[in-house]
Amino acid sequence: MREAATLATRRGGDVAARDRGLVWHPYAPLNGPVPYAVSGASGVRLSLTCPDGSTAEVVDAMASWWCAVHGYRHPTLDAAAHRQLDDFSHVMFGGLTHEPAVGLAERLVAMAPGPMAHVFFADSGSVSVEVALKLALQYQTATGSSERQRFLTIRGGYHGDTFAAMSVCDPVDGMHSAFPGVLASHVFAPRPPLARLEAHGDRDEWVTDEAELAQWSRDFRDLAAAHASELAAVVVEPVLQGAGGMRPYDPRCVRVMREVADEHGLLLIADEIATGFGRTGRLFACEWADVAPDVMCVGKALTGGYLSLAAVLMTSRVGAAITESDFGALLHGPTFMANPLACAVASASLDLLQDTWSGNVARVQSSLRTGLSPALDLASVRDVRVVGAVGVIQLDGPVDVPAVTAAAVRNGVWVRPFRDLVYTMPPYVCTDEDVATICAGMIAAVREVHG
Ligand SMILES: *Cc1c(COP(=O)(O)O)cnc(C)c1O
Repeated sequence: MREAATLATRRGGDVAARDRGLVWHPYAPLNGPVPYAVSGASGVRLSLTCPDGSTAEVVDAMASWWCAVHGYRHPTLDAAAHRQLDDFSHVMFGGLTHEPAVGLAERLVAMAPGPMAHVFFADSGSVSVEVALKLALQYQTATGSSERQRFLTIRGGYHGDTFAAMSVCDPVDGMHSAFPGVLASHVFAPRPPLARLEAHGDRDEWVTDEAELAQWSRDFRDLAAAHASELAAVVVEPVLQGAGGMRPYDPRCVRVMREVADEHGLLLIADEIATGFGRTGRLFACEWADVAPDVMCVGKALTGGYLSLAAVLMTSRVGAAITESDFGALLHGPTFMANPLACAVASASLDLLQDTWSGNVARVQSSLRTGLSPALDLASVRDVRVVGAVGVIQLDGPVDVPAVTAAAVRNGVWVRPFRDLVYTMPPYVCTDEDVATICAGMIAAVREVHG
């Protein structure tokens, strides 16, 4: 009795106060700002208890770090989870298989850009990048080029927080200086020039400074040629660099990467963890460039926002080379590989997505363009950009994150700014009114805090 009473008090008690000093949060000190406590999530809204004890209902402009594309407590996804829970939640994947994994792999291969033939399930985006990098090294060894041990990528990238993934993140922003002894040194090309996706009639067109684009292409080709004999693969977020700066670039750059990879015998690894499943206005961002990668990582939106899951897709050529190699296998195998619960929800999420993403993302893009353009009138704002269901306000200096977060919450919106960026990657199911609320809340918060 007493224990039950204590538990009940605790649940109703101040969870944020108990959290502080006990639980680490992403990139935050133990004594950092008091977090907001979530007591419920439904549709595109979160119910919060704020650090000052007040409660708020906010539109989630972040879709839980870009995952919850259908919103929270979606009846179809809840039902898929319950159904699988009644069957079995987890079994090992060594020597066993199950419908949720095979069904999801079939869906992924069918949706993928280009002829993807095989799927490796990983438990997070970072781990899928680790697997893709291992895969490229194993591929080169299997095809007689074991000296090819480095990767070519562009500055400003983000590929995850585990060591190998971190080593291909931007060398300055990617925390390389904190781990100088461990991180492998890879080859970094300049950032492609910033591009904009502009509405021309009923079509969207990429606009880039042509001279800068030509210069970048030359630099990228030269760098690849100079290092060709030691390179295993090009690793890149196609068309939109996400956590490295919410920076879109011209699809023609992705085409250059494909050509360079072919010319020098490198694999092209597309990290579509942020961009995949419609976020940029194409089902996969590679499609903007009409490029088929050799290896593709997916995560985030794959999950529908329910359970951690990611996947590495590869062509039959890559799969065959690994299979025929001395090891004969891809050297990875996590405990929770192809977790049935996660796979069942992901399959249900992709089925929902198939029929809805295109119309929803186009609608969200149009509402973001309208809703965010007034931000350009603010003194503190340097740039406003929209690509698909991604809307970005870039300030002329670092964002006061706690102040902007609090101001946005007061205006009914949850955002998580970083560096000089206040951005949204909302659930695709946001109505026009929800997107208008998000844009107005972002602008009000920037105006209140930064002017
Ligand atoms: C989020 C992200 C990752 C890492 O995924 P986690 O699931 O957080 O490990 C890797 N690459 C890109 C492009 C991402 O956006």
